[in-house]
Amino acid sequence: TSYFLLSKTFIILLCLIHTIESQSQPWSPLDAPKELLQMLIRDPFTLSLASTDFGHIIHQTPFAVFAPSSIQDISKLIKFSNSLPIPFTIAARGRGHSVNGQSMTNDGVVVNMTELNNNNNNRIVVFDDYVDVGGEQIWIDVLHASLEKGLTPLSWTDYLYLSVGGTLSNAGISGQTFRFGPQISNVHELDVVTGEGDLVTCSTKKNSELFYAVLGGLGQFGIITRARIALGPAPQKVKWLHLLYNNFSAFSEDQEHLISFNGINESNAPNYVEGMLLLNQPPLDLSFYPETDRPRITSLVTQYDIIYIIELIKYYDINPEIETLVEGLNFVPTYIFEKDVLYEEFLNRVHSDEVTLRQQGLWDIPHPWLNMFVPKSRIADFDEGVFKGIILKQNITAGLAIVYPTNKSKWDDNMSAVTPNEEIFYVVSLLRTTGFDKLEEFQIQNQQILQFCKDVGIGMKQYLPQMKTHEEWVEQFGHKWEVFEKRKAQFDPNKILSPGQGIFN
Ligand code: FAD
Repeated sequence: TSYFLLSKTFIILLCLIHTIESQSQPWSPLDAPKELLQMLIRDPFTLSLASTDFGHIIHQTPFAVFAPSSIQDISKLIKFSNSLPIPFTIAARGRGHSVNGQSMTNDGVVVNMTELNNNNNNRIVVFDDYVDVGGEQIWIDVLHASLEKGLTPLSWTDYLYLSVGGTLSNAGISGQTFRFGPQISNVHELDVVTGEGDLVTCSTKKNSELFYAVLGGLGQFGIITRARIALGPAPQKVKWLHLLYNNFSAFSEDQEHLISFNGINESNAPNYVEGMLLLNQPPLDLSFYPETDRPRITSLVTQYDIIYIIELIKYYDINPEIETLVEGLNFVPTYIFEKDVLYEEFLNRVHSDEVTLRQQGLWDIPHPWLNMFVPKSRIADFDEGVFKGIILKQNITAGLAIVYPTNKSKWDDNMSAVTPNEEIFYVVSLLRTTGFDKLEEFQIQNQQILQFCKDVGIGMKQYLPQMKTHEEWVEQFGHKWEVFEKRKAQFDPNKILSPGQGIFN
């Protein structure tokens, strides 16, 4: 009897699993046209790679991973989905360096964009003042190809192992943004496979609605398969300065002065301005500074609890005078530190951190990051409430906290990317790395920071946004929401693209 009961339970369980599977997956890959079938991969290893991202917080298992060998394959896949009574969702995955499941789909298909690179297709072609790049390409390869001709893209991210399509779906920001705008402001033209599977070339002059939609569009309107990106002459070397401040208003006034060009002539104007915090919390990363200076920097941090650093870069071929670069700036006297490095070494600086962190087993662990754009008029309140309030008081280690101003006039408001309603706003990136045991503490702290901003009306916008409700998305997009929704209906009417963003699903 017990054997009979056991087998009956087993059969019921199998039926249940089958029912659940067929309910959540109303199509079978066997329905797919033959040519697509062989590109739909379902082995557990491939599925598990597509089920996680750099954040290691969200996990969603796709039904299959698609390995396209051409742009037409992507178009066919999207058209096939749209042809079904219930279309399946499709998420382009560049490098999966999102932190909140943005390149995942539960039960749909993940398009592994890197596969486009596998056929020796020469997907980076450098011209005189622009480069044509496949959406799956990573920025380090774009840099190398451009440098071979003495050229370089003008606007960057801090880390270069990100895909062009992935960063253009957000904005692509770094210390050069104040001069050249974000990476999305440096695109002349795109090829996009829309949510209906049509391959469309677009620019500000041609199919401009799609062009503006896709740039900063969080993958909602189409898959970028080619981008034409502006280039300029590449400099040889970089003067890399760190200036230390014990006072937030002096720090932010100097940062704003540096990005204003006010009274600074071009030969002394910085090419890159960022900033970061040094908090009296372990671990205190002083690796940039000479060993002999570390004790006095540590005492400064201990004395003030929080030190602000301006990171100022001047590209050069002929060594510039430091005195003129920092003229009139109010950093703590003598707390100025410099390095001279090659241009590529500077741009690729985060990669050496990656190598070290990987060796220490600290790369593939949770990253509860929070990225915000804070209007200039409220940055001092943000400093008091968040840096000195929540972060310093709770003492759960801040990780890397980046703070620098940039200017709205370098962004094109027709594009989907969202910025606050002031000419100057600050990028604030809280880049935390933690073990799984501490993850919840950071998530709670992030919620407290967001709640603080809401309570005192900071007017902040999230970058790489992570919204939970429809109302939060509407608030995030503000006056752009209506257009965003309209463009979705136009270019992806069945709402199949990038469901991991959680905007329309
Ligand atoms: P994925 O995570 O693969 O995808 C991101 C989103 O874009 C998903 O919704 C996906 O479906 C969609 N997508 C991917 N490819 C395409 C495509 N071809 N067409 C349309 N949609 C697509 N950002 C900055 O701006 N500045 C920085 O300095 C910066 N530094 C970073 C440093 C590190 C270590 C990391 C991990 C991230 C950093 N980021 C930075 C964030 C990064 O730009 C975004 O997470 C970006 O989306 C990552 O690119 P990806 O190729 O990994 O995108």
